[in-house]
Amino acid sequence: MDDLTLRDFVAALEELYPPDTAQSWDRVGLVSGDLDQPVRRIHLAVDPTLAVIEEARAEAADLLITHHPLLLRGVHSVATTSAKGASVTSLVVGDVALYVAHTNADVASPGVSDALAAAAGLDGTEPLVMEEGRPLGRVGELAAPVTLRRFAELLARALPSAPGGLRVAGDPDAEVRRVAVLGGAGDDQFDAVRGCGADVFVTADLRHHPASEAREEARGGTPYLIDAGHWATEWLWLASARDELLRTLADRGDTVEFHISSLCTDPWDFVVDARTAPEPGGRPES
Ligand SMILES: [Zn+2]
Repeated sequence: MDDLTLRDFVAALEELYPPDTAQSWDRVGLVSGDLDQPVRRIHLAVDPTLAVIEEARAEAADLLITHHPLLLRGVHSVATTSAKGASVTSLVVGDVALYVAHTNADVASPGVSDALAAAAGLDGTEPLVMEEGRPLGRVGELAAPVTLRRFAELLARALPSAPGGLRVAGDPDAEVRRVAVLGGAGDDQFDAVRGCGADVFVTADLRHHPASEAREEARGGTPYLIDAGHWATEWLWLASARDELLRTLADRGDTVEFHISSLCTDPWDFVVDARTAPEPGGRPES
């Protein structure tokens, strides 16, 4: 049987995550590579960082699939003097094709938020909101109500471990059942979260003002908030993308090997809890 080529993978990826379903500002699709090159090893990661590209090369991957774009803004050089340039150069020198499925994977079904909804233990989900005419985020119910603390603990177990952990706003002993999820940055969707009657909203990148105002609107009640980390909430999609590719390529899929990156590309490396920091504590010097 002939080897699968990059052309086959691009066709399969475009069927799963049509590029025209990406948001208008996004840059998705093939970034590097030759459509005729054979593809036997596929590496999947959230971010196309230099370390991930190195990891893909060490795995002898022919194709790297990432969620986040490498080149979202215009560049006039791909020299190794910048990190972006070094990344492109490394991909080309290492003969690794790069393919990006970003906001088109967010609105796909199954897509990024389905993977997060499954990890959160939700049944019978529906879209949280329509964005540019496409369903974004999911809302569904837990099989049985649990306390907010218990739900957060179970979610933490289902997510890959990241240094930032999970930040939770709300009464830890309050019961939650209806859950809204949105992988990645979600603090522009509080109206939809309130509108769907969610007890808790799982997302990431919650900034002070939107989160604080949402808590004020809730008067201490629902929806509670969980910031579960951008990388962690999107990482779950990688296994879904692998499974969907295998299904789409059907009988030809046995010629390929998939590897999901083991690198945590969350930019934070450690957290110091101000309440448990060793002496001398007190006020910061001003
Ligand atoms: Zn993201």
